[in-house]
Amino acid sequence: MAKDLSRKNRNCWLEPEACERDEVLSFCSDYIDFLSVCKTERECVEYIQELALENGFISLDTLRKEGRKPVKGDRVLVNHRDKAMILFVIGEEDLERGINLVGSHIDSPRMDLKPSPLYEDQSMALFKTHYYGGIKKYQWTTIPLALHGVIIKGNGEKLEIAIGEDPDDTVFTITDLLPHLAKEQMEKKASEVISGEGLNFIVGTIPQEYNEDGKSVKGVKDAILELLKDRYGIEEEDFISAELTAVPAGKATDVGLDRSLVGGYGQDDRVCAYVSFRTIMDIREPEKTCAAVFADKEEIGSMGNTGMQSAFFENALAELIGLTNGECGDLKLRRALSSSSALSADVAAAVDPNYSDTHDKENAPRLGNGICIEKYTGHRGKSGGSDANAEYIARVRQVFNGGNIVWQSGELGKVDLGGGGTIAQFLANYGMDVVDCAIPVLNMHSPFELASKADIYMAYRAYTAFYKSMK
Ligand code: MN
Ligand code: MN
Repeated sequence: MAKDLSRKNRNCWLEPEACERDEVLSFCSDYIDFLSVCKTERECVEYIQELALENGFISLDTLRKEGRKPVKGDRVLVNHRDKAMILFVIGEEDLERGINLVGSHIDSPRMDLKPSPLYEDQSMALFKTHYYGGIKKYQWTTIPLALHGVIIKGNGEKLEIAIGEDPDDTVFTITDLLPHLAKEQMEKKASEVISGEGLNFIVGTIPQEYNEDGKSVKGVKDAILELLKDRYGIEEEDFISAELTAVPAGKATDVGLDRSLVGGYGQDDRVCAYVSFRTIMDIREPEKTCAAVFADKEEIGSMGNTGMQSAFFENALAELIGLTNGECGDLKLRRALSSSSALSADVAAAVDPNYSDTHDKENAPRLGNGICIEKYTGHRGKSGGSDANAEYIARVRQVFNGGNIVWQSGELGKVDLGGGGTIAQFLANYGMDVVDCAIPVLNMHSPFELASKADIYMAYRAYTAFYKSMK
């Protein structure tokens, strides 16, 4: 007991044996590069796939076509519709005895363009958005925004877009009212200061042409449509078959005089996704098969065919069992799923010194105190959370203590203050053991989230210990 209490306030930076500073900085410098270029789930999948294929991963489709049986040490990649991904490293043990899985999500809160986004008002052309995930809308105005995504044209051609990231690029922004005229606005509740329908951003102000009497006959919207046609070959109708999203523009960066933090958009949950990706890349010939799952749609409830509630993960595992054993009966798959051990790697809410009364200080995740185990999330009486078994947490704890991992335990803020969930509940539906275990962040769901470099590196060491030692 005394030993556990002393673990409570371990600080990674003070434990050079567990957290070597040069390794921390070099790991996080790679992470900052990743975070700066991967701002959508599709960009994450593309990035992970490219590096995985370069490093010996073979796609499951290729294995199937060649009828190859995966053996210990094989590295298998599953790309699900370019928006979700699974990496497997095949272990010694039979898949039926379960796998070790780290699951994260690669979607983040943002502002998606509406299917019919372009309109003109007050001689300006704007794009309408429908926000995605839980945001405080006022945080997303008056900052530079970039436009990312894909457009599938009428002829099926796919166009990939990323405008606003190069220093020479143009950017976009959502306007807000000047203080001089904001008397009424400032009296509103924060949730109503900016309305959902008010999240429109300017895309142009130059009208196409005037007629002789000086009145605009073709306006700014027409000019923008012509520009889109010239530059990208797209028609207005093409927006319907597009996934375009406005995200904060610019690179992720060091934060603080001591540069101990990483600041950037989308760290929920790309920080855990990146770390689990780096971890599984370094796993060779494990005892149990290891999997890193990168899910989409977590921020809107894990719905949709690329979210954790869809069957993509169990389908992939069934294929893998089929290739290994010649066939995959339902029972084999169920056994594999229910015997598995999982970490739901989705960021924890760190205690914020400006708002420290939102946390119970005995159960508050802290920046720099290592990877955080959260027995449950949920809201008001743990509702909607996946409350992990004590026995399983004991096993995770043993693995972490055995590997000299700096870890902490925490809750999602004070009881009854709010709450949330992760993909843990959907992994738990398979009957497998699962617990939330992730990096604490500040400014969650804002355009500029913060994480501690030491925690990021510690998560890499923790996931490594989990893959290697969880029996
Ligand atoms: Mn989130
Ligand atoms: Mn998350």
